[in-house]
Amino acid sequence: MSTPIKTFLLLGASGDLAGRLLLPALGQLLDAEPERRSVVLVGAGSEAWDAGTWEDRVRTSFGSASVSEDTVSSVLAGTRYQQVDVTDPGQLRSLLESAPAPAALYFALPPAVTVKACTALKEVELPEGTALVLEKPFGTDQQSATALNLLLTQLVPESQVHRVDHFLGRSTVLNLLGVRFANRLFEPIWNSEHIERVDIVFDEQLTLENRARYYDSAGALMDMIQSHLLQVLALAAMDPPAAVNEVDLRDSMAQALRACRLWEDDPVHAGRRARYTAGTVEDRTVPDYTAEPGVDPGRGTETLAELTVEVRNSRWAGVPFRLRSGKALGARRKEVTITFKNPVHVPTGLRGRPASDRLRLLMGPDQISFEMNVNGPADPLELDRVTLDADLGAGRLPAYGEVLAGVLDGDPLLSVRGDTAEQCWRIVDPVLQAWREGKTALEEYAAGSDGPAGWAL
Ligand code: NDP
Repeated sequence: MSTPIKTFLLLGASGDLAGRLLLPALGQLLDAEPERRSVVLVGAGSEAWDAGTWEDRVRTSFGSASVSEDTVSSVLAGTRYQQVDVTDPGQLRSLLESAPAPAALYFALPPAVTVKACTALKEVELPEGTALVLEKPFGTDQQSATALNLLLTQLVPESQVHRVDHFLGRSTVLNLLGVRFANRLFEPIWNSEHIERVDIVFDEQLTLENRARYYDSAGALMDMIQSHLLQVLALAAMDPPAAVNEVDLRDSMAQALRACRLWEDDPVHAGRRARYTAGTVEDRTVPDYTAEPGVDPGRGTETLAELTVEVRNSRWAGVPFRLRSGKALGARRKEVTITFKNPVHVPTGLRGRPASDRLRLLMGPDQISFEMNVNGPADPLELDRVTLDADLGAGRLPAYGEVLAGVLDGDPLLSVRGDTAEQCWRIVDPVLQAWREGKTALEEYAAGSDGPAGWAL
């Protein structure tokens, strides 16, 4: 672990991510851990903001997360805003020189601007311990991710690079560690002999929500599956790490991802894509995706994607891992579901067919649910189904709060390692290529439905 961070430098401080997620999460973190309040927050961006505008920004963002007045006043006492063109080495140098070192530079910037900013940093001598925090998408394909990694290695050591995947800060996702490795029950059967399939689903009711500028050139496969769900797969599929630290845990995750292959090595059929048409989500009337402001229908962007992969190793060969995420769906469903194989033999005399046992880890509200077969209460020899539910309660911090805690501690445990980021692109690139070539149909589903016919999991 490196030196704790003294300055949190928020580049792109006027942007959506900064205002809606990062500043509120920072406030919540400082509320939960007041000993961190000595960190100096510096906002930077291309806008010519005065001190009052910045103060309003911080107040409003903190207010949205009900951050305490103590934290608000302590942050406001030390914070400032600086107008900076982040692509200019001279301006970046003076920004860094004016802040206590080491700083964490959080690139809350459009991805292309982040690359330019990192290129500019090659001309700046970075104080020891400087951390670089990069958002998704990390590159646009394997080649660009490799190039970006190469650029970063010229700036700071890998352990000081945080490639943010806030999913790794979600308590349910991290619960995969406890459930798998702190029980005698599951790990011995966590393999292809006993598990039929694994589904990792993140279905949202949210629609485009005015994010066409970003989303219309990304789509569901890049936005969710490449960036987040493959990391969840890595936690579900990996071999047990000896320790939960940045080296062992991330080694195990990387190994699992390296073993991932598209189902039947077929980029055309391993992925499915669809786009929502007009409909109603709960009480909300939703226009056709292509009618949303800023959308270019010609891009053929998918709002629902599914990818099936195999982790081709001795533990998992033959087990489908299905990753799916979409917008404007009728029901919110965010979970990892492990479906077990049926028992080898059910004693004759027990009536009814056993359904597969299913272990579900649900996100927001965080729950664990285990569906199993028992003898029915009415007829003691008739099989029946019960579900054991445990409510895990809200996490201590929001996912971005956990991410920021790692950044401020100089601990990249919950960030994506460079080689892993490249692996995620290696897995999805052939599917994206098949889609660009029109080899996989772009299906449609009405907003508020559960997806195109035949897609039910
Ligand atoms: P926005 O477009 O809302 O904000 C980008 C910010 O960067 C603005 O403050 C903009 O300032 C600033 N900026 C752009 N160019 C420069 C420059 N040359 N010098 C200084 N500042 C500059 O984007 P988001 O906040 O939505 O996204 C930021 C990053 O976070 C992206 O990589 C995105 O993919 C990622 N992300 C976003 C999420 C979200 O929910 N918004 C979720 C997860 C990841 P100005 O407008 O004044 O130019």
